[in-house]
Amino acid sequence: MAGYGGELSVPLVGVTAATASDSRGVERASLNLSYLRAIEAAGAVPLVLTPGMAREQLEAALGRCAGLVLTGGGDVAPERYGQARHESIIGVSAARDTLEFAAIEAAERAGMPVLAICRGMQVLNVALGGSLVQDIPSMVEGALAHSVQEPRHGPAHGVEVEAGSRLAGIVAGTRVEVNSRHHQAIERLGEGLVVTARAADGIIEAVEAPGRRFVVGVQWHPEDMAGHPGIGESADRLFAALVDAARSNA
Ligand code: MN
Repeated sequence: MAGYGGELSVPLVGVTAATASDSRGVERASLNLSYLRAIEAAGAVPLVLTPGMAREQLEAALGRCAGLVLTGGGDVAPERYGQARHESIIGVSAARDTLEFAAIEAAERAGMPVLAICRGMQVLNVALGGSLVQDIPSMVEGALAHSVQEPRHGPAHGVEVEAGSRLAGIVAGTRVEVNSRHHQAIERLGEGLVVTARAADGIIEAVEAPGRRFVVGVQWHPEDMAGHPGIGESADRLFAALVDAARSNA
């Protein structure tokens, strides 16, 4: 059958990108390939959403999608949660905040499944009225190292997953070893979210919206763990769960 509507077994999943200038000053859409490969490996087709696209086009694009992945990246503007900027704030993009706030709102309206990764979990939390710890190393005493750049697939630290949560069902357990490339964390929870995993230092590592709709946020980077034997199985399951939910939502 022609058209996206006839391809329910291979759903389209929207995925948010950043913009960046290359060494010659040429503006580019910027998105680690690992996000696209992880979505494809789970059986869906990624549709890239870029900062600066018109609201009407974003709505039209998401109208053809059955799921949404909010990706990692720079910090959400602290003004979005009513705070002055800490000196460590990096990579703020008003256009990207605008894109993702609008995408979250559209996904909510459509009952669309959402997988929110790293910055994605933070922007989801802020969009729902929550706030962030602006800089873990300087603001959280006794915190573990959460900015561990290599190896990208991890592990950097463990997380304890809340028994009975959707996440525990997905990863089939209550302990996951994860990578960690973030200097911020959730402070006050957004409306409708519950904490489903923490690191040993108390830092929130996963959230979800209880109920039927699939809304899962993780502070780690499953897209870089996916496909790695011995460490990536929980990440493979996360993307598979999103795509399963997208198929039921399509
Ligand atoms: Mn971490």
